Amino acid sequence: MNNLSVRILEALQLLEKNQGEKQWPGPSDALDNLILTVLSQNTNDNLRDRAYNRMLEIYPSWEEVMNAPTEKLEDAIRIAGLSQQKSERIQAILRWIKQEFGELSLRQLKNYNNDAAIELMTAQKGIGIKTVTVVLMITLGRDLCPVDTHVHRIARRLAWVDWNTTAEKTFWQLRPHVPTGKGHSLHMNLLQFGRTICQARKPRCRDCFLWDQCRWDEKIPK
Ligand code: SF4
Repeated sequence: MNNLSVRILEALQLLEKNQGEKQWPGPSDALDNLILTVLSQNTNDNLRDRAYNRMLEIYPSWEEVMNAPTEKLEDAIRIAGLSQQKSERIQAILRWIKQEFGELSLRQLKNYNNDAAIELMTAQKGIGIKTVTVVLMITLGRDLCPVDTHVHRIARRLAWVDWNTTAEKTFWQLRPHVPTGKGHSLHMNLLQFGRTICQARKPRCRDCFLWDQCRWDEKIPK
């Protein structure tokens, strides 16, 4: 085991000890999750869910969402912000899925291994590596640790990657070092840790159980 693998394993053990081992709750629908992820950009979970529910109230099937006049769809999801961009993106993604899979469903994704699914999906405009890996981890239980804004920030503060490493590069650099079978628990634990302790602004360093592991110059002394 190399140095980075050891450091990630040590951090994971502390995260699980303090916050619990996160269990995958079981399969869910990949397309629902993908559209929710598009809606979630630059907003909170509450507004995302309200936009999603409103959209499906007016257009109860993905076929209807895909074929809706774009400005009407934009109205339906306005509460989540960036509604013009999001409505166009959602419809473009739905059209692509229909063309690629012959149906408005992502159930065939289960036939793709992780690398093939990532390559296929990220070739589409508006679908990034974080989105695909979240969908694969959450809906299919794939052993991946997606790098969102929290994981990215913490990985840099713990110096798992260099400070200037992008989120996408961070995902690829960490991937071989994530303990087997622990992608979900590591991701969910880092998310919780990032929301409650290692926040972007005003991290609670004095309460931090990863203080000894942290290599950030600006961490607050104990
Ligand atoms: S010591 Fe502070 S900056 Fe470092 S991981 Fe803990 S909360 Fe984050």
